[in-house]
Amino acid sequence: SKSFKRFDAIAAVKSPGNGSLSPGDKSFDILHIFGENALHLTELKARLPKQIWKELKKTITENAPLNPDVADAVAVVMKNWATERGATHYTHWFQPLTGHTAEKHDSFITPNQGGGAVAEFSGKELIQGEPDASSFPSGGLRPTFEARGYTAWDPTSPAFIMENENGATLCIPTAFVSWKGEALDHKTPLLRSAEALNKAGLRALKYFDVDATRVVSTVGAEQEYFLIDKEFFYRRPDLVMAGRSLFGAVPPKGQELDDHYFGSIQDRVLSYMLDVEKELYRLGVPVKTRHNEVAPGQYEIAPIFETSNVAADHQQLMMIVLRKVARKYDLVCIMHEKPFAGLNGSGKHTNWSVSTSDGMNLMEPGNDPHSNMLFLFFCTAVISAVHKHQDLLRAVIASAGNDHRLGANEAPPAIISIFLGDQLDDIYAQIKSGDLKSSKKGGLLGLGTPVLPALPKHAGDRNRTSPFAFTGNKFEFRAVGSAQSVSLPVTVLNTIMSEAIDHMCDLLDEQLKSADFETALKTVLTQVTNAHYPILFNGDGYSDEWQEEAAKRGLLNLKTTMDALPYLKSDDNAALFEKYSVLSKAELESRFEIFVDQYFKGINIEGETTASMVQTMIIPSVIRYLNELAATLDRGDKLGFAIAGTKRVADHLASELDALIEANGALIAQNAELGGDTEHEKAEHMRTNVIPAMNKVREIADRLERYVADDYWPMPTYKDMLFIK
Ligand code: ADP
Ligand code: MG
Repeated sequence: SKSFKRFDAIAAVKSPGNGSLSPGDKSFDILHIFGENALHLTELKARLPKQIWKELKKTITENAPLNPDVADAVAVVMKNWATERGATHYTHWFQPLTGHTAEKHDSFITPNQGGGAVAEFSGKELIQGEPDASSFPSGGLRPTFEARGYTAWDPTSPAFIMENENGATLCIPTAFVSWKGEALDHKTPLLRSAEALNKAGLRALKYFDVDATRVVSTVGAEQEYFLIDKEFFYRRPDLVMAGRSLFGAVPPKGQELDDHYFGSIQDRVLSYMLDVEKELYRLGVPVKTRHNEVAPGQYEIAPIFETSNVAADHQQLMMIVLRKVARKYDLVCIMHEKPFAGLNGSGKHTNWSVSTSDGMNLMEPGNDPHSNMLFLFFCTAVISAVHKHQDLLRAVIASAGNDHRLGANEAPPAIISIFLGDQLDDIYAQIKSGDLKSSKKGGLLGLGTPVLPALPKHAGDRNRTSPFAFTGNKFEFRAVGSAQSVSLPVTVLNTIMSEAIDHMCDLLDEQLKSADFETALKTVLTQVTNAHYPILFNGDGYSDEWQEEAAKRGLLNLKTTMDALPYLKSDDNAALFEKYSVLSKAELESRFEIFVDQYFKGINIEGETTASMVQTMIIPSVIRYLNELAATLDRGDKLGFAIAGTKRVADHLASELDALIEANGALIAQNAELGGDTEHEKAEHMRTNVIPAMNKVREIADRLERYVADDYWPMPTYKDMLFIK
């Protein structure tokens, strides 16, 4: 009897051209469809009475409190707008601490006396929901006896419609809080941090006579992801359960030829991307860039930046749409930070800047940064913020998935540092010495032939190895994981920036008592730069020397999640969050608890999945192959042909099988242990015992994959999954 279906999956990936645009879709008009499924301000303005619109606009642009009459009027407009687009239901759409989004749909339909029904939606329903949702992680903020949870409308992020062939739902971005008003989500602290940044930013801008109504942070996150055929996905319990492959020998050809990176995009994948983009355009998400990434099967999509709260919502929508549309093309979109060992993992480079609400970018150095005091003030604030809170930045990107990536010579190291580029590096050396004079120039780049135009050369090069890099007019936080929400990292950036700005304003006030503005400012820049100079690093972040050098500089090197997470709730960081009313001590501790728990559960699932795949898939196939070898040996013996070679194969296989069974036994024993009563002890047990046991099993299994007859191997291999589409 045929042992298993090794080649069925490959056969099922029928035609590489699978999935195509339906005829006529090709000519869709971007300008026409952009935002048609989002309730944008212009639409609201057109539909609302003038006075109501004015009040709502105040809430949206100036964060003025919302009045209930306004909510009623907006609710009617929203309902009409949504039902015109076929919506039958609405949901408060929120972002619990799972890092995903949540929704619970309610119908607009209310039966009337005549046996029919009307569509109703009130301001109360718009403003507040009570989804219960008590099963979401609360990290102790919500004991079951007071388990109420509320969602509250966020008027600053546009409502939108999610639809498929069978219907449509109005989604209203909301915050999610406990009965006591404690934040159970990622949006609430992000909004609070935006408020803190606004205050500090406006305070600073006064010195520079910049007239601004609000200071905001802007975010554009580049999303990396993998695509594999659905047929392969479902034959890999590890991908289904853990989101990453727990087995898999690295194929002879990986990414070393760089033939995938920026390569011509395969048709099926391009169709998928076009479809994703179309849906995102309709939702008003301004996606801009697409390309093949480094690893085979890896891609990237990036939007145009927006204010942080809207960008964070849109980033979630982007992940949802990427996953959803993939199914239409019989593909699965994998967002894990390291789905395939030995190949590049996926990150989410989070580009961040600070600007006025009129769009004046405060991180724009201009042509002569050395004389751009406004820029230098804000840039110096970033330097001091990142140095002072490197631990916090490290902690909020810590996850079981990102542990595989950080420091693995393809992503930034676990050491947080800042890359400024040549020009700014030079300027900061001048500032440090207290003698700020000039800016290095980029100049023109001659290309050696008159046919090509001379290119303006940037004054600073790029550095792929830095976790936090200045890239022209924004900072790029490159260590963020591909699967995580950008909200918390951005919340931290906004908050530490607020503190740094305030601190520099305090220093400036002190100096201004006895000096003119320019002298005072230069003194402060020098003072702050000197204190935080060790965070600046322009060299190769992947090198061993940097590990040593960073230690000498006193920079933290928190290699794994369990090393980093405790810093989240350090006294310093707790005081910071409390001072800026971003997270209370209880809210902060709840996050620590939740992240530790997520780590524990994530690894626990991996440990159990590994053991069961070995038990039910790998061991049986090795035994079947051995059985075939044994039959050959038997018959060879009887018939008298040479069997020494076959015997060697069988011996080797049998001894590897023994080793595998033993290692898996050890893993099963560790899986059965709890390691303690607290989540923290359980998580530690995962780190110190389960992960090594799992690695041992994998090592042997991956060797076996190279040794067992291909048609006996019980799951799709890397070369199947990554190269066949
Ligand atoms: P690069 O990484 O090559 O600089 P882009 O200029 O396209 O590429 O920017 C990458 C991402 O950075 C995009 O999502 C872009 O919208 C975002 N970005 C650009 N300017 C800003 C800004 N001022 N604030 C936040 N994000 C920005
Ligand atoms: Mg970039």
